[in-house]
Amino acid sequence: MVLDDLGTSLRGTLEELRGKSRLTEEDVQAVVKEIQRSLLQADVDVSLVMELSDSIKTRALEEEPPGGTTARDHVLRIVYEELVALVGDSTELPLEEQTIMLAGLQGSGKTTTAAKMAWWFSKKGLRPAVIQTDTFRPGAYDQAKQMCERAEVEFYGDPDAEDPVEIARRGMEETADADVHIVDTAGRHALEDELIKEIEAIGEAVEPDRSLLVLDAAIGQGAKEQARRFEESIGIQGVAITKLDGTAKGGGALTAVNETDSTIAFLGTGEEVDDIERFEPNGFISRLLG
Ligand code: GDP
Repeated sequence: MVLDDLGTSLRGTLEELRGKSRLTEEDVQAVVKEIQRSLLQADVDVSLVMELSDSIKTRALEEEPPGGTTARDHVLRIVYEELVALVGDSTELPLEEQTIMLAGLQGSGKTTTAAKMAWWFSKKGLRPAVIQTDTFRPGAYDQAKQMCERAEVEFYGDPDAEDPVEIARRGMEETADADVHIVDTAGRHALEDELIKEIEAIGEAVEPDRSLLVLDAAIGQGAKEQARRFEESIGIQGVAITKLDGTAKGGGALTAVNETDSTIAFLGTGEEVDDIERFEPNGFISRLLG
């Protein structure tokens, strides 16, 4: 990581350490304070921020900088390592046949993310298909179909059918030639039992290799309860954060990652099919601190 990846004020605080060979407690405290300010502003959970602060403080003061390392480089390396530990690695996504199910509340961006992911897999040379099982939200079928047309990927849905599990089952059969099946599910406005039951039944029908939780970047601490419920019912292996093109930085999603012991897979950065990025720690850290 280079200093340029850090926010302006943190960069300034670190620059003040230039030329120093030893760090005082006040030096470390000043750096930690800047990081705390940025992370809390980015919606990262307070207890996660506190854990990170403690680790940075302890390590910066107790670890002996390797010979020739300046105080500034020493603390920068520790800050970077601890931030990487906080945001985690990218969810492993082998480029092979698989079924991925998307979970999340209504409006989180599941349908959009399903089409974007299909576009992403198609660019990697695989043959994806999106299966739309959302019979709850009016317009979900048309929206998914149109986005899949724009992404030039296979699509299955049935606007006249009422049973999402049946749609899922038929969708898997009808798109049997596809390599990657992306199963979009219905959300609800809140975590209702009915939603959980439905997604469990769809999961039993399609037997996903992995399930991703789709979260709006603005989620804040609501991420915790959602993550817990979905983790308990279907198991969550990865998170997709949407709407990072807005003002929200997505730090709340780290709570979900922590709660489900998973990682981040994708970032959504707009409404078009190609507005998707694979999660990568450095870029996300810059975003959080920027
Ligand atoms: P679902 O109910 O979970 O399927 O959510 P949708 O996929 O319908 O998304 C809800 C709204 O958020 C739609 O208007 C999408 O266009 C929008 N949306 C989804 N992802 C993004 C994103 O990454 N950036 C922006 N700006 N809008 C997004």
